[in-house]
Parts: sequence; C-alpha cells; structure tokens
Amino acid sequence: SAKSGARGSFRFFEPELDRQLQARRSLERDMRSALAHGEFELHYQPFIHVVSGETCGFEALLRWNHPERGRVSPADFIPLAEETGLIVPLGEWVLMTACAEAAKWPDDLKIAVNLSPVQFRSPELVPVVMRALANAGIASHRLELEVTETAIIHDSETVFAVLAQLHALGVRIALDDFGTGYSSLSFLQKFPFDKVKIDRSFVSELSGASDESRRIARAVVRFAVSLGKTTTAEGVETREQLDILRADACVEVQGFHFSPPVQGARVAQMIGERAPAETPRPAVRRAMAG
Ligand code: C2E
Ligand code: MG
Ligand code: MG
Ligand code: MG
Repeated sequence: SAKSGARGSFRFFEPELDRQLQARRSLERDMRSALAHGEFELHYQPFIHVVSGETCGFEALLRWNHPERGRVSPADFIPLAEETGLIVPLGEWVLMTACAEAAKWPDDLKIAVNLSPVQFRSPELVPVVMRALANAGIASHRLELEVTETAIIHDSETVFAVLAQLHALGVRIALDDFGTGYSSLSFLQKFPFDKVKIDRSFVSELSGASDESRRIARAVVRFAVSLGKTTTAEGVETREQLDILRADACVEVQGFHFSPPVQGARVAQMIGERAPAETPRPAVRRAMAG
C-alpha cells in the first residue's frame, strides 16, 4: 500500500506496479486452467528449400485462445509459463500434439518444435520426446527440436548432455534465433546442431535502410552458412531478402513471404493441393509456397 506523501514518486508508481502484479496473477491463474480447457492450439509454418522450392516441413507455434482476452501471444505467456514451471506440462502437450499432427503428413515432411530452457531441467524431457514419437508412430529423424543460444548458455553442461541423448535417438537439433545470443565459434563446434536458424532481425536488415546494417546482416548470414549445417532464414518477408539469401547459399527459408503459421486443417489442405503421384511434386510444392 502507498506510504505518506514524503515518498511522492513511490506513491505514483505503486498503483501501476500493483496493477501489473494483479494482471500477472490473473494470467497465471488462467493459464493453469487453459490446458485442461483446450484453449491452446498449435499453428504450423512451413520452411522451404531455397533451390527446389519444396516444403521441407513445418514449425509448430503455440497459440492461446483466451476466452476473454482473445489470442494471447507466446511472447506474453511463455515467459510466465517458464517462471511458474507450467511450461513443462505445456511443452509436453506441444510435443505430443505436434508429433500426432505430423503423423498425418507425408513422411518426408519434418515437424519442428520449440523447446524452453526450463524443459531441459526436467528429467522427463527425453522420455516425453520418446513417447511423443512412439504415440504418433513417426520416425525420430522427422522431429526437429529448436533451442536458443540463451537456453544453452544458462546451464550448458546439463543441456549438452540432454541434447546428446536426443541426438542419439535420431532427433534433429536446431539452434534458433542465431545471432542474438553469445555463441562463440567453440560453442558452435561443441554442440551437435543439425541446423542453424538465422534470426529474423538480421533477415529484415538484409533489405534494410543503411549500408552498414545490411553489411552486418549479410555477414551473419554468410557466417551461419559457412558452419556447414542446414541454414534456415527466419522471417523472410520480401522477394529481395529471398534473392540475397539464395545468392549467399542459405538452404531454407521461412516467413510471411511464403506463408504465415496456419492451423492444422490448413496444412492438410496445403498438402492435399500437391500434385497426384504422376506429376513431379516440386512444382506443386512451389505453388504451395507462393
Ligand atoms: P521462434 O521460434 O523464433 O518463431 C518465429 C516467430 O516469428 C513466430 O512468432 C512466427 O509467427 C514469427 N514469424 C514467422 N515468419 C515471420 C515473418 O515473416 N515476419 C514476422 N514479423 N514474424 C514472423 P510467434 O509464433 O509469436 O512465436 C514467438 C516465439 O515464441 C517463438 O520464436 C518461440 O521462441 C516461442 N514459442 C512459440 N511456440 C512455442 C512453443 O510451443 N514452445 C516454446 N517453448 N516456445 C514457443
Ligand atoms: Mg523457433
Ligand atoms: Mg526464431
Ligand atoms: Mg524467437
């Protein structure tokens, strides 16, 4: 509660802080029941091979359809889910749901799932991944787990051990948001990444205003490509960005230029729009990629 007028600034700020705390608590309360009430949903965004134009797979992105607030962005609820530990059951639901969805697709399509650093501290992660694959009946190499640099930096020994176990299962490991963390060259060598996803902030700068920012963005792309892993550019929105990425030998692209994240039913439709077996698939998939 607010103190005397002697601490005027304190009095000024406290109601706002209080309001924020209340809002947080109510969001937390709502999140606890949301899983049980089926308010979470996965959307899927395709990633596309630059040269062939084929869709390689889809990334699962979590959506919360709140009964009163409407659609809450993952940027708003994932940090809270991490602080409260709810990310563990929620992350399990994501893995189960995403793998089950991928089981409906042709088996050359991958499913990418984002992992929170908090999930790595749960001894359940590896068994949950195994169960998700077994329940869905999909091959482990179809699952790609996305992990950020910050996730690994925090508890690198634990995360590395878990990544190695997952990798041994045949699951692919992607480094997400590349360029925004603190990766050193030795760090990149130490972890068994199969893919590096260049952060959207660099991709947007490729067609940015200043020469300087464009040069830096392009250097990041070239550096990522030089690592010799599959390189995916996130957040590709324009033809110009795509052309630069292609010229710099980036392997895959993902972004609104091709498709926003869409519902599972729409993925099935997109896949259905592919040509029948006698027609070469790449052309149709190119059409699907827009
Ligand atoms: P991310 O994994 O880096 O996902 C990429 C984000 O960029 C997604 O935002 C996607 O919708 C958005 N995006 C894709 N293409 C474009 C584009 O061309 N332009 C722009 N402006 N944005 C684009 P979203 O879905 O809001 O997710 C934000 C972040 O939340 C994700 O970043 C990921 O870190 C986290 N997240 C989402 N789903 C999950 C999940 O199931 N588990 C965990 N642990 N984190 C998740
Ligand atoms: Mg991701
Ligand atoms: Mg990312
Ligand atoms: Mg991100």
